[in-house]
Amino acid sequence: MGTSTPPDRSRLRVLVVEDDETIGRHLETGLRGNGYAAIWIRTGVAALTEAGAGAYDAVLLDLGLPDIDGLDVARDLRGRSPDLLIVILTARTDDIDIIAGLEAGADDYLVKPFSLTVLLARLRAHLRRRVVTPAEQPPVRLDDLVIDTTARRCTLHGEEITLRPKEFELLATLARHPGAAVARETLMAEVWDENWFGPTKTLDVTMASLRRRLAQAADASGRPCRLPRIVTLRGHGYRLETDASSTA
Ligand code: CA
Repeated sequence: MGTSTPPDRSRLRVLVVEDDETIGRHLETGLRGNGYAAIWIRTGVAALTEAGAGAYDAVLLDLGLPDIDGLDVARDLRGRSPDLLIVILTARTDDIDIIAGLEAGADDYLVKPFSLTVLLARLRAHLRRRVVTPAEQPPVRLDDLVIDTTARRCTLHGEEITLRPKEFELLATLARHPGAAVARETLMAEVWDENWFGPTKTLDVTMASLRRRLAQAADASGRPCRLPRIVTLRGHGYRLETDASSTA
């Protein structure tokens, strides 16, 4: 992080990275008309230069840029700014591209063409969550895993597991109800937004990557690990089971 002044919370700053003239202009105009401080640029290089040092609250990132692949831009931005909201804009409708975008560090995606209304609703939902300060909670121990929501840390045998913000929130939400079935709708509401509408593929992708990161951490620890299991309940949601909560 640099020494620039913190973002002005009265006007959230959004960087639009889009090489299509019509879409770029539409987004810049629409965001400004709705109270955001929006800057529109057209290349990945400009995005990497412009978005450093906490200068923006959110980046709307086209994946098909003329110079650098948008996925690489997302990965780079995420590496430098863990708290930056990154929403990818893609004409690619293949699931694989959306999954790749989320795995590269994007928080959300919109498939073109999308309406400005939907974009604004998503931005409001994401950005509102970011300014909420959660009440302090004591760390929760689940088998060998400790989840500290106040410090936003998750450790296994004392070793920190690096989780992306939504992965952490998903795990923390399940951990608040160990042994209980938690509906997909509840998870979408608590982790993403209370008025979530639209696809819930984001939940599946985030869950898959959370499971992978936990398994990798257990593998890497080099010692026996008792990890809570995240059980899929078809047509309903998920249940987090620990050795303590499982009756099997
Ligand atoms: Ca493009």
